[in-house]
Amino acid sequence: MTAAGASLLEGLAALEGEGLAAIREAGDPEALESARVDFLGRNGRLSDVMRSIAGVEPEVRPEVGQRANAVKTALSEALEGRAEHLAADVAAGPEELVDVTMPARRRWIGGVHPVTRVIDEICDIFSDLGFSRVEGPEIESVWYNFTALNIPLDHPAADTMDTFYLDDGVVLRTHTSPMQARVMEAYQPPVRVMVPGLAYRRDSFDPSHAPAFEQLEGLAVDEGIDFIEFRSSIQHFVREFFGKETKSRFRPAFYPFTEPSAEVDVSCTVCQGSGCSTCKRTGWITIMGSGMVDPAVFEAVGYDPERYTGYAFGMGPGRIAMVRHGIPDMRLLYEGDVGFLEQFS
Ligand SMILES: [Zn+2]
Repeated sequence: MTAAGASLLEGLAALEGEGLAAIREAGDPEALESARVDFLGRNGRLSDVMRSIAGVEPEVRPEVGQRANAVKTALSEALEGRAEHLAADVAAGPEELVDVTMPARRRWIGGVHPVTRVIDEICDIFSDLGFSRVEGPEIESVWYNFTALNIPLDHPAADTMDTFYLDDGVVLRTHTSPMQARVMEAYQPPVRVMVPGLAYRRDSFDPSHAPAFEQLEGLAVDEGIDFIEFRSSIQHFVREFFGKETKSRFRPAFYPFTEPSAEVDVSCTVCQGSGCSTCKRTGWITIMGSGMVDPAVFEAVGYDPERYTGYAFGMGPGRIAMVRHGIPDMRLLYEGDVGFLEQFS
């Protein structure tokens, strides 16, 4: 064997190894075709070797030629096998290519908003005392929003609510109380209703205020309702909602549509009355405004104030949800951040 012949045989061995590797690694038909052109094409590496056979001594040509043909056969068979394998992958469709080791996508489960849940629970408790649940319009007339509730427009109480007018005499309701007047106009006593819904005021959006917020009101009117029934109903609610051990107290207050009026405090559910940041170190949290319905309201809706008495109360379910869950900023409740809200569902 001459030096030139030996060098050609070595080159063929290397060519065969590299060619088989390239074919094995071809991941799609394009890559496979590219490997075929590189090694077996008209100007490919095997053709180069074939052409140089003419330059070696005649006595070694047969051996080198045979070896070259063997390499060509091996590469051709490998190409065919690889092409079949790739075609089978394509025929199997994309399911075959799904990565089953990927983590599954979490199934979405909705939940009741913490404020809605507070409203539902409170309405349920009062439903045991005979209260039905009613809802009213959010766009309200000035008559129902102020006048019928004994709030003259030049009264200071109206100033704090003088807010989103849509037209002359039409306002986005500033409380859910207008529904009390509407119910009393439509029904004769006895009346016991809970009125949940959105109210609107020109308040800034800060940790303890929102320009649109949930309100929940209650109204009871009947013959012979006195302050004792009023107070015991509220105490029943406090124990049912905040817990049997929770204390409540009534503090004198002023509202135009009730007389006498009281703010209701409950003993802080976080510190049990010893003082913490939630109750501002007082041990008490104010949860509602309330009082005996002013006879002037009965007159405005056509009830006989000599015959009927009643009580009314209003609270902010958003604030109550904050107290219940220790939420420091009211805006969190209304920003619709699912990551935040999810923890309550
Ligand atoms: Zn406290």
